[in-house]
This record gives sequence, C-alpha cells and structure tokens, in this order.
Amino acid sequence: MSDCLFCKMVAGDIQPDILYSDEHVLAIRDINPQAPFHALVIPREHIATLNDLGPQHADTIGRMVLAARQLAQAHGFAADGYRTVINCNRLAGQTVYHLHLHVLAGRAMHWPPG
Ligand code: AMP
Ligand code: ZN
Repeated sequence: MSDCLFCKMVAGDIQPDILYSDEHVLAIRDINPQAPFHALVIPREHIATLNDLGPQHADTIGRMVLAARQLAQAHGFAADGYRTVINCNRLAGQTVYHLHLHVLAGRAMHWPPG
C-alpha cells in the first residue's frame, strides 16, 4: 500500500523510533504519546482494520500481542500494569488505516475509557 504511513515505515521509507522488530511485526514509539510509554505494534502485512482480520491472520495477531507483552516486560511495566488498545473505524477514533495495537503504560489508566 504505497499511500499507507505504516507500510512506508515497514518498507523503511520513513524512519520511526523503532522499539522492536521481527519478521512479523514492528513496534514504534507513538509520535503523540498518551502516556509516559506509548508504543504501537504494527504487523508488517497491510491489514486495514480489525474488521479485515481473517483466520489466516491468527498467527499475526498472536505475534502482535506477544510483542506487546515483550515490550511491557522490557520497559518494566509488566508487574504494575499497562493497557493495550486496538481502535477500529471512526467511532473508536482510528486515524491510521493499517492495523496497530497501542501499548500504553507509566500512569494509571481510567475505566471506562474515553
Ligand atoms: P489510531 O488513532 O488508533 O489510528 O492510532 C494512530 C496512532 O498513530 C496515533 O496514536 C498517532 O499519534 C500515531 N502516529 C501517527 N503518525 C505517526 C508517526 N509518524 N510516527 C509515530 N506514530 C504516529
Ligand atoms: Zn499499510
């Protein structure tokens, strides 16, 4: 997807602050952090939204969650806690239409979310 921001990061055309990378996913620091620690776990494959996931993506979504767990552990947030979020479509506030998992940590989170 040539006009997709996160595909450009995966391709190396844009250089984000990369926190983790493997053959399945890229994790970057969010440019507009909503918590002291705010990362985005991005699959290398272009998948627009959660609605576009199929059974063939089971490994990919599993890898995304495992990367989130790894990030939380590596940055010292595993024990105290952290939040993972996937926004899907307009009412959830999705702005980048390439699937991504937010990992937020370093402050108390509120519930219900805004
Ligand atoms: P969402 O609203 O769930 O689609 O999340 C998109 C996220 O991407 C937002 O938290 C943005 O701050 C973040 N974002 C947008 N552009 C960039 C960028 N160039 N580098 C890092 N994060 C970005
Ligand atoms: Zn993309």
